[in-house]
Amino acid sequence: MPPSALLSLRDIAISFGDFKALQAIQADFHAGEIHALLGENGAGKSTLIKVITGVYQPDEGQLFLDGQAYRAGGSAEAQALGISTVYQEVNLIPTLTVAQNLSLGRQPTRFGLVRWGAAQRQARALLARLELEIDVNRPLGSYSIAIQQLVAIARALALDAKVLILDEPTASLDGHEVEVLFGLLRQLRAQGMAIVFVTHFLDQVYALCDRITVLRNGRLVTSAPIAELPRLKLVEQMLGRQLAPS
Ligand code: ADP
Ligand code: MG
Repeated sequence: MPPSALLSLRDIAISFGDFKALQAIQADFHAGEIHALLGENGAGKSTLIKVITGVYQPDEGQLFLDGQAYRAGGSAEAQALGISTVYQEVNLIPTLTVAQNLSLGRQPTRFGLVRWGAAQRQARALLARLELEIDVNRPLGSYSIAIQQLVAIARALALDAKVLILDEPTASLDGHEVEVLFGLLRQLRAQGMAIVFVTHFLDQVYALCDRITVLRNGRLVTSAPIAELPRLKLVEQMLGRQLAPS
């Protein structure tokens, strides 16, 4: 039977030489949920994201989007399928304007031109939806990292993402900026997006997420609704040892 989740991973394994970076990974990411992907440094979180987006091809296992097996050849192909990723280092072009960045990766017209007028109108509409007061004709690099992250998310929306993956997006944001980002993510969750959220900040996990998956040494240790994983237990799962007598 095909999986019912929006994005499903079955028996994923990948090695780099002799090093087993991921083994036997099962995960289900549902529409309308924010799903935290946690684990210590080197646990395999970024590698798993790269498998999902086709930057790496798994040695074993299958990926399903909307119940259909898929294979992406890289992040551009994943994006075309509806899986967008926002990294800590913003993967946009700082010297281009906000509007130009928002139209990267969009299909040109059949004359081979990107329609800048239409792109700008769309950019403004998207940013208005995010309640961002910014000038789309200024270079993206003239804005803060926080604004650049939000523009990266706006771009994912412009590409009709169904799955939005954020790999440590809040590392360089201040408290207010984190709140703006979380407001947006809650809005997108309500609209039925599946959001995968990688962070080191456990307060953020409990403030925002519905479900948690924990990786340790390339293996899945837990996947549970947030209510079933109190903080102490979560940290124990991440570290692989008991912190307090039970
Ligand atoms: P995390 O994002 O959880 O901190 P990563 O997925 O980046 O962890 O890395 C998991 C492990 O895989 C680490 O030990 C890392 O050194 C290794 N690794 C990741 N990518 C490669 C690669 N391209 N070649 C060799 N080893 C890699
Ligand atoms: Mg990482």
